[in-house]
Amino acid sequence: MSQFERASGLREGQERALGRYLRDHVSPYSGIYREALERRPVRAMEALATLPLARLEDVTDPAELILRPTPESLSLSPEREVRLRWWWARVRGRTAAFNRKVLEPRYKPVHWHSDTVPIGYTAEDLDRLSEIGRCTLEMAGVASDDVMVSLYPAGSSLGFWQMHLGARRAGLPALFLAPDVPPEEVARLRPSVLAGREGDLVRLLEGGREAGLSFAALHTLLVLGQPLDPARRARLSEMAGGPNGSVAVVAAWAPPGVRALWSECREGIDVHTWPASEVLELVDPLSGTPVPPGADGEVVWTPLGWKGTVVLRLRTGVYGSLEESPCVFCGRTSPRLRVVLTLPPFARVLDEHPQVALWQAELRTHQGSEELVVFLTPAVDGHPGRLLRQLDRQLSVTQFVVLDRQTLRKRLQATGDARVIDSRQ
Ligand SMILES: [Zn+2]
Repeated sequence: MSQFERASGLREGQERALGRYLRDHVSPYSGIYREALERRPVRAMEALATLPLARLEDVTDPAELILRPTPESLSLSPEREVRLRWWWARVRGRTAAFNRKVLEPRYKPVHWHSDTVPIGYTAEDLDRLSEIGRCTLEMAGVASDDVMVSLYPAGSSLGFWQMHLGARRAGLPALFLAPDVPPEEVARLRPSVLAGREGDLVRLLEGGREAGLSFAALHTLLVLGQPLDPARRARLSEMAGGPNGSVAVVAAWAPPGVRALWSECREGIDVHTWPASEVLELVDPLSGTPVPPGADGEVVWTPLGWKGTVVLRLRTGVYGSLEESPCVFCGRTSPRLRVVLTLPPFARVLDEHPQVALWQAELRTHQGSEELVVFLTPAVDGHPGRLLRQLDRQLSVTQFVVLDRQTLRKRLQATGDARVIDSRQ
């Protein structure tokens, strides 16, 4: 099968699935999309393209985004079986049983993630997230005879729950600990997989190294929450050690509002997306129009099959291109997103300098002019004068502030591991 045939086969499958989703679930039960979709063109993708782009920041009432069947909309359900069962339940006075068996698993949000707005998941959605989480682990090369220790903060976040549910579905022994757990405690558990945010994994591995601990069984670092650039990936791999770089660094992340983390495969560096549960478009960020095939654009995300909170055509603020040929590393055919990382050029200089162990930059406004302040910890002890002169030649920094490792770690931790803080007014 040629690449073109494969890609058009995928699009046809998505067209049919999107058509059913919009017709059977979104159009009848969404308060905000019902009207627009009732007049929709026949082709689902064309109907989607007529809807405005959405941003989570513009949502004023998250409750409006939830799919809510009502007695009236159920009587007119496009799904014949649902219509008949509802009618039968009403005739026999058994609507409570109908709600419990049919409606609640599908449509009642029973679990929430707090993103920019709360995102509701139904029981069926959680089942789906479990399966996607299992796939994330499988793609990372994690098997049920591994032991995973996760430092990802427990709470109402997608990263935590996708891993938690996925591990359970995969039958993977997993421990979910606090991000600041002492390295001794982790080493004692002899994990073969460590999962967490990049900054927390760095702190753990550095702390372990300083304490002379060994993570001998470790073969995979699962970095959750944000894309990795090559320099940070290499640094993590180097810190995780292992003979001949035998510890794989695998990332999984998604922008707010997207219902499941996109996941890298073990050898790959682009995230695999989930074509059975999402439709991705790439648009020009200024005009909002589709970019030509193969070009970079802003990712616009539409759910496929998800219930609970439904936002169609969500602008993600993520830029990149879609690769639709089979993955050269794992052979899977799900499209991969090649992200254009938007860190400023000075970030690369700091990332790649061998004598910079840690850094954080802050953009400020002072008396009307912009300043760039770089906080950094040198990799080696001693006077940092030469390092700072070197950096000064490459960067236009207003001020360097040299901090010891612990102080800078605390600073990073307090700002959610943000590498660039923009405090400009
Ligand atoms: Zn792959």
